[in-house]
Amino acid sequence: MKKQIFESIHNELKKKPNILITTHRSPDGDAMGSSLALYQVLKAQGYKVSLVVPNSYPKFLHWLPNNNDVLEFEGNEERANTLIDTSSMIFCLDFNDLQRTDMMCESLQRSKATFVMIDHHQDPSDFADIMFSVPGISSTAQLIYEFIEEMGWNNLMTVGIAQCIYTGLVTDTGSFRFSSVDARTHEITAKLIELGLEQANIHQKLFDNNKESRLKLLGYCLSEKLEVLSEYQTAVMSLSQKELDQFNFIKGDTEGFVNYALSIDGVIFTAFFVQNENKVKISFRSVNNFRANLLSKKHFNGGGHINAAGGVHMGTLDEAIDKFKAILPDYKVELTGNK
Ligand code: 5GP
Ligand code: MN
Repeated sequence: MKKQIFESIHNELKKKPNILITTHRSPDGDAMGSSLALYQVLKAQGYKVSLVVPNSYPKFLHWLPNNNDVLEFEGNEERANTLIDTSSMIFCLDFNDLQRTDMMCESLQRSKATFVMIDHHQDPSDFADIMFSVPGISSTAQLIYEFIEEMGWNNLMTVGIAQCIYTGLVTDTGSFRFSSVDARTHEITAKLIELGLEQANIHQKLFDNNKESRLKLLGYCLSEKLEVLSEYQTAVMSLSQKELDQFNFIKGDTEGFVNYALSIDGVIFTAFFVQNENKVKISFRSVNNFRANLLSKKHFNGGGHINAAGGVHMGTLDEAIDKFKAILPDYKVELTGNK
């Protein structure tokens, strides 16, 4: 089965396609790391490749090798559409449904290219012609490493590619602590380090570059906006537009905030609501078997992984939080084992 996937990719590549790589809206470390790793290895193989992402991504990822080659669709629609329209093979990384590309979705739907999905989210939809989808694996970056190995391209692995793959691994696993980490995740990491990767340096670039205002926003959020609903072993946090403005919020500043509430003893589920104009973006995190993705899919038009999911509410912040609190009783047994 797996062999067939790579054979199909080999066959497509033999046609010397114009390749486009893309990922989900508001790309994270795994999205950018795996896209840039694949970009570099395909370039090294001599292919014509471009990398177009739906919109902007946090500054702490801008140091990644070949970052300057990334084109943001939003704001560069004409150039991006020309690239999409002239591509005959499109790699879709770190998402399981074309809708996740949001502003790019229509252009991708129009394309006649061969679509290859490389992803680790549950319940992939069937938009891709070739699917390398392994739900449950730590990250798309881990799958990109497997892809490179399966294609017999190990000799093309550089420190730059290793840095990208490591970024995906470390950001999608909460620094190697989620249950999605397996022996292979560590084995791959060991190989990257053997290659010359300086992992401490990458941690520093990713996590120790806070602005003072971001750290103060986190402090404010934890001290003023954290609510523990012990009856449901759940914690809630939220930030309004006004509060974000007060701390000179820029994109990426609230990344990771949702995880703090999960570290409270007894809390197994957290929701973090952030207002964004007339909608509210919600991040969910859970531990053990509580399926955050199902709750998000059912009530907040979202999805994701069992323990890390996201969704949206069209409306005000208060409405979104009220709605969330109103549905919690339906999940009480799952959350606490008690009726
Ligand atoms: P985050 O909370 O970091 O934004 O997202 C956590 C996970 O949930 C990610 O793996 C992402 O793929 C997924 N996710 C976030 N927002 C959405 C959404 O609006 N729809 C879907 N289907 N998944 C989402
Ligand atoms: Mn991912």
